[in-house]
Amino acid sequence: MAFEGLADRLQSTIKKITGKGKVSEQDVKEMTREVRLALLEADVNFKVVKDLIKRIKERAIGQEVMESLTPGQQVIKVVKEELTELMGGENSKIAVADRAPTVVMMVGLQGAGKTTTTGKLANLLRKKHNRSPLLVACDVYRPAAIKQLETLGEQLTMPVFSMGTEANPVDIATKAIEKAREEHHDYVIIDTAGRLHVDNELMDELQEIKANVKPDEIFLVVDSMTGQDAVNVAESFNEQLDLSGVVLTKLDGDTRGGAALSIKAVTDKPIKFAGMGEKLDQLEAFHPERMASRILG
Ligand code: GDP
Repeated sequence: MAFEGLADRLQSTIKKITGKGKVSEQDVKEMTREVRLALLEADVNFKVVKDLIKRIKERAIGQEVMESLTPGQQVIKVVKEELTELMGGENSKIAVADRAPTVVMMVGLQGAGKTTTTGKLANLLRKKHNRSPLLVACDVYRPAAIKQLETLGEQLTMPVFSMGTEANPVDIATKAIEKAREEHHDYVIIDTAGRLHVDNELMDELQEIKANVKPDEIFLVVDSMTGQDAVNVAESFNEQLDLSGVVLTKLDGDTRGGAALSIKAVTDKPIKFAGMGEKLDQLEAFHPERMASRILG
């Protein structure tokens, strides 16, 4: 399960301080040292950890007194609030365009889970929000990717728009939006091409699609198992495309959690959804507060 190591370490650190009727500056220092080590070990970005620890120390040492809590509990409350804030505070909702359809562009490296997440997101929009999405296959370089999306469409009994591998992705996306308008689909979810690494050709293509279809959301799909790499990938996609949000996949694996805890701080873009398994109903809205509670026990 995700965050196990981090959760174990933070929880045992916290146990030492919970019951304390008095918390000295030395106690806070010891606790923050442990928290710092646990976060670094979980592969959280170094600078993110440094800033977080500084804020926790400032708040925990000069802390506001709440009568219902012991000083130890207050310190923990500070840690929890800061972890929540680090992951983005509130859960942010998916956009709804003034004029349908709302266009969502899915981007990411190959293998991150982009195509699967496209299907999962469509499923979630239909189930939870009563929407009628149209899926669009824009990865013209890999016939297998088009086939994969079509198979997902069949599983979901949901239409998939594709024009094969000969058409231009901008044309495909543009025609898909026209079709969605005619057939009253209120969401268009575009599965774009992925590569093994970030490269200029891919970015040029994605920027061209963006400029032409003016998506309401651009979601980067990243694999949380790749830790610090996921953060670097998010940084470069965000520089090139000005993302609106991130979807973290494979949080059901034994990820150390670093990506979940660093991405918002590094890119300033919220994590909107989390992939919790391979099945089509295993996508959840990402709630920073719930995640912080899970980590801190
Ligand atoms: P793409 O190349 O980015 O389109 O990636 P795919 O959608 O083909 O996914 C790559 C692999 O990751 C597939 O085997 C998916 O089933 C798997 N996958 C995607 N999301 C998740 C997730 O949240 N959890 C788990 N365990 N596997 C996932």
